[in-house]
Amino acid sequence: MAIKSIDRILTPPPAHMVGDGFRVHSFLPGDGRLGKQRMSPFFMLDYGSLIEFPPSDTPRGVGVHPHRGFETVTIAYRGRIAHHDSAGNHGVIGEGDVQWMTAASGLLHKEYHEESFSKQGGAFQMVQLWVNLPAKHKMDPPAYQEITNQMMGKYLLPENKGTVEVIAGNFNGTAGPARTFTSIEMYNLKMKAGAQLDLCFPIEHNTALLLIEGTVSVHGTTVPTDHFVLFHKDGEDIEVVAGQDAVVLVLSGAPIDEPIAAYGPFLMNQWSEIEQAIHDFNTGKFGVLAD
Ligand code: MN
Repeated sequence: MAIKSIDRILTPPPAHMVGDGFRVHSFLPGDGRLGKQRMSPFFMLDYGSLIEFPPSDTPRGVGVHPHRGFETVTIAYRGRIAHHDSAGNHGVIGEGDVQWMTAASGLLHKEYHEESFSKQGGAFQMVQLWVNLPAKHKMDPPAYQEITNQMMGKYLLPENKGTVEVIAGNFNGTAGPARTFTSIEMYNLKMKAGAQLDLCFPIEHNTALLLIEGTVSVHGTTVPTDHFVLFHKDGEDIEVVAGQDAVVLVLSGAPIDEPIAAYGPFLMNQWSEIEQAIHDFNTGKFGVLAD
């Protein structure tokens, strides 16, 4: 079968703060280098590269804000993150865990460093994705999936060379626990130096890798830490070899071929729906959540 060749390797864009708790590089939708649909159904990818936060008695984070029309997926690599939403869900994710929040018709939430982590301070590294929903599910009720590391599918590489942690989709028969609305593959590759593995995704899927830790070579091209690899839709197979011990986030999904109207925390199909979202937010239809 043909390989999925590399379209481009992106260096991390300049970081900005989201609230006072998340210092992120926005690879998607990015600074115009990529179109809004280029990685559909993944609309946004904020990468919080490794940073050391000093101790703080007041947890850093982002205060109450709304979302509608998509899902937020938060992956913790270092540190712990707490979440509360107006649908009544609350959770804390730690290293290796994932929080998958379906905002859909809309809710309010807040995202903070977990209290004891905040008091201690320490290393912090995370990813937040915005996964688009198809039009027919944008107004579904909100939902919440806490996916602990233990719940993930674990595919062991031969000779103790590492693990593929399957969050969503299926790697070589090992399935991930996430419930998704469209076809999505999401894995963390945890590879020892010298480990080799082959990924295979449908030709029409939008596919990318993010180098969280270490270096890998993809089809023989070296990819440094914190870099993002975007693939063409020209084949199915991707060969990854770890140059050093490496952690790699893999994203692949069937594109949602529908118009996008994006404004702030809302991701809809038409501008009239954005206006409706703003109106609904201003009239309290997203519920109630204390600061
Ligand atoms: Mn949010």
